[in-house]
Amino acid sequence: MRALVVRGRDATPAVEEVRLPAPGAGELRVRIRAAGICHSDLAMVNGTLAPAYPLVLGHEAAGVVAETGPGARLAVGTPVVLNWAPACRACWHCRHGEPWLCAANTAPVVARGETADGSRLHVTLGLGALAEEVVVPEHAAVPVPAGLPPERAALLGCAVLTGSGAVRNTARVAVGESVAVIGLGGVGLAVLTAARRAGAAPILAVDVVEAKRNLAVAAGATDFLRAGNTLAKKVRERTEGRGVDHAFECVGSAATIHAAWRLTRRGGAVTVVGMGGRDDLVSLAALDIFHSARTLRSSVYGSSDPDREVPELAAALADGSLDLRPLISGTVGLDEAPAAFDRLARGEGARWVVTFPD
Ligand SMILES: [Zn+2]
Ligand SMILES: [Zn+2]
Repeated sequence: MRALVVRGRDATPAVEEVRLPAPGAGELRVRIRAAGICHSDLAMVNGTLAPAYPLVLGHEAAGVVAETGPGARLAVGTPVVLNWAPACRACWHCRHGEPWLCAANTAPVVARGETADGSRLHVTLGLGALAEEVVVPEHAAVPVPAGLPPERAALLGCAVLTGSGAVRNTARVAVGESVAVIGLGGVGLAVLTAARRAGAAPILAVDVVEAKRNLAVAAGATDFLRAGNTLAKKVRERTEGRGVDHAFECVGSAATIHAAWRLTRRGGAVTVVGMGGRDDLVSLAALDIFHSARTLRSSVYGSSDPDREVPELAAALADGSLDLRPLISGTVGLDEAPAAFDRLARGEGARWVVTFPD
């Protein structure tokens, strides 16, 4: 089958023929219908996550069960959304209600299958979903209702679960609370959508790129602000001089974490959704940490339980209460995926989704 493969750090991803094993005990082969290109895929290419190569990219996808291994319970033909952090339900975190921190999911890549020339192949986050097919453990596939548009259902597996979970589970945004979102990629836009569904107001969207303004408003922002030196002042002007109750950092850098901190009110909360680098240090004054009484915490996979929350989001998608169209810049075929990667790296648009013919 064909997959989007990167051969080494900073190499250009290319479509290759690869081979996957048949599904083993408790595993499924899933035919992919649509897969999003996420910023974490860029982190796989630029080496931030120190993965092994050759590597199949992709971890945000919707598909259909095509074959089941011994003992797997899902029926062939079941529509599923893939889960890149399937919970083992047995480790300390799983037993204490934190399945998103499952100890079984620490590897950025897993060895699975081989390339056409017989090299050992790896797959991103146990999935490698920018491909015609994946072979995954059954608990990495969440059943969803039939009939969802695949390019929207795919986003439930990463950007939307992450964004909605950050708002609902991590920050627990309440009706009428003020929100600022820094960084308007797929996840940032999903945070805006979740903040609107939570009844937040105002919802201030922040990006360095003016071209994100219309996307931000379509996704749920009440106001768009350009990042820059006067950002904290502009945010205070819109929050009776205090700063926002909640700031969401969706970039993954020390500079934007610091910016999020500065535009949050005393006693407010900063939620870090972006995945930053190992050597990018955030500097905060000890007095500021004490006196500001702010909370700084991260949201890994939306502090969510995908087995419960993906079906909830799928139901909202089906009944129209969750509109993901503003998040999708366009759909492309697998052969156009390398060009879509370049557009993502340049910060153009929101989510590019690769779709596969029926
Ligand atoms: Zn992702
Ligand atoms: Zn676990």
